[in-house]
Amino acid sequence: MDISKIQSKIKEVLGSDLVDVELWGSVIAVYVRDLSKYYNDRSFLRQLASELKRKVVVRAIRDKRASPEKTRELIDKLCAEAKLTNVWFNDAFGEVIIEAYKPGLVIGKGGANLHEIASNTGWVPIIKRAPTMPSFTVEGVRKSTIAQADQRKKFLQKVGKELLKPTPDTTWIRAVMLGAFKEVGRSALLIQTKHSKILLDAGVHTGLNPITADKESLYPYVNMFSFPIQDLDAVVISHAHMDHVGFLPFLFAAGYDGPVYMTPPTRELMALLQLDYYNLMNKVYGTDAPYTKKDISHELNNVIPVQYGEVVDITPEVKLTMYNAGHILGSAITHLHIGEGKHNVIYTGDFKFGPTKLLNPAHVSFPRADSIFMESTYGGANNITPNRHESDEKLLNIILETVQNKGKVLIPVFAVGRSQEVLLTIEAFAREYKDWNIPIYIDGMVLEASAIHTAYPEYLKSSVQRRILSNDSPFEFEYLKIAHGVDKQSITDGEPAVILAPSGMLTGGPSVEYLKLLAEDDKSTLIFVGYQSALSLGAKIQQGVREFQIPSDGKLKHYHMKMRVETVEGFSGHSDRRQLLAWIKNLNSKPRRVYTMHGDFARTEELAQKIKKSFGIHTESPWNLEARRLR
Ligand SMILES: [Zn+2]
Repeated sequence: MDISKIQSKIKEVLGSDLVDVELWGSVIAVYVRDLSKYYNDRSFLRQLASELKRKVVVRAIRDKRASPEKTRELIDKLCAEAKLTNVWFNDAFGEVIIEAYKPGLVIGKGGANLHEIASNTGWVPIIKRAPTMPSFTVEGVRKSTIAQADQRKKFLQKVGKELLKPTPDTTWIRAVMLGAFKEVGRSALLIQTKHSKILLDAGVHTGLNPITADKESLYPYVNMFSFPIQDLDAVVISHAHMDHVGFLPFLFAAGYDGPVYMTPPTRELMALLQLDYYNLMNKVYGTDAPYTKKDISHELNNVIPVQYGEVVDITPEVKLTMYNAGHILGSAITHLHIGEGKHNVIYTGDFKFGPTKLLNPAHVSFPRADSIFMESTYGGANNITPNRHESDEKLLNIILETVQNKGKVLIPVFAVGRSQEVLLTIEAFAREYKDWNIPIYIDGMVLEASAIHTAYPEYLKSSVQRRILSNDSPFEFEYLKIAHGVDKQSITDGEPAVILAPSGMLTGGPSVEYLKLLAEDDKSTLIFVGYQSALSLGAKIQQGVREFQIPSDGKLKHYHMKMRVETVEGFSGHSDRRQLLAWIKNLNSKPRRVYTMHGDFARTEELAQKIKKSFGIHTESPWNLEARRLR
């Protein structure tokens, strides 16, 4: 359908009330003089959306909008109880963004306040929840969305134009494995047809030191594209971990200017982790990061947020839907509907098909699945993790024993995901265990990542959601201490304590600084709670290495490890083997093919064989650089 056909269709419904129609990404923006007439009667919008098969928004033209001062006055009056934190006017979009601690009170009964604001001022109200803890990332991303609104408008209109190109016949579909095949790290998969080129994830290898590792093993094989990077149509990001998103700014540095699709919390978490990586490269390693802050801000400007379950056109022949993956906040399983349903691809990203303290289990009911690309981090024959109750017990006992010994407990964690899961567990101990007096120090980006969680309670399990909404956030409790900015030695020399610090695989960051201070203390304990990539220092120590060297002040310093070393499984955000198989079993239609990925050599092979044997599905575990024709 072209724009003139869309315009005449809308004209049929709105008549002379219609002033203009514009395409903003896959959304049709309809401009009218009197917003009150259409904001209160939304049935025509639904009718249009179903006829045009696109989301439709209605806005008032600029000179029919009230002044920001007058509008603000009305908002303050209507939302006096809502604890407003920010009100921003986005002139390019005709929207007023209202941020509050109590968004329900901004909306009002049955949306009454929203109707009143829209009808009386011509501004379309957009509601955002304020995080219960201050978050510079949430604030930064929200402010920059306003500051860059004009660029963003141009960008969305460009995307809209691309999406209107005539839909060609889908004659062939192929997949090119660019990273995380028979390995964990640098996830990247190209899905290509004659007319569409879509990249799923763009990660770096986080198990390797970014300075000393060779670039060939650090980054995905995007130099294998058979086309210039500018010709890529879309990037879809499954979740914010750096092994899925760390390469994205490089694409922008290399000239990519297209859309990036992800859930709203992934955008915030991604911004946090990418800036942290950038600072680590510049400040800690003293080298220039291979991309600039400008590339990150360019990338953020091109993010198109997608809610779980929402169907979005990303090229004229491909529709995208994202579903909860249960792995970390905002993590998604990607579903691509290609060529009017000729082929359906599911890319799982990292997923947990089992309960955690923080998130609901991964989604399993998909309309259709032909080819599945599936993670196999714990797909090996022996990867059966203990139940969560046993894991909690084991963690608690190790902490209590170490504290009795007057030692410290160091837990290396990913800033996003494992650290919140472990925090929730320890917070529950502290509540249940009457004599608890052990301080829990959190360092690095753990605090900020937790704050981002409080802005998106609707993505969390209902029990956590309820606590955040009732001002009893499990991320703020009596024994929680912020170590960021505190001298680390004063903590390691002090009273018994638990320290949670990234990186999770001891490849850099504060966890390594604490390890240097505690390595030779035989009273203290190092506990692994997450995945350790084969080449990381964490994996070496876990496997029994007790002599190692770590760079210190520009020189390699030798350490003789005397700490007790423990591994507590069961906190993982990944499915174990049983959960991976249960997910396949519970799919509502049997896929034609399953490709295993995101696991080491043996695990991807073992999972593929087991799925073939148990379910009679054609399976493969391809290598990086291989390609498969899907249709
Ligand atoms: Zn992950």
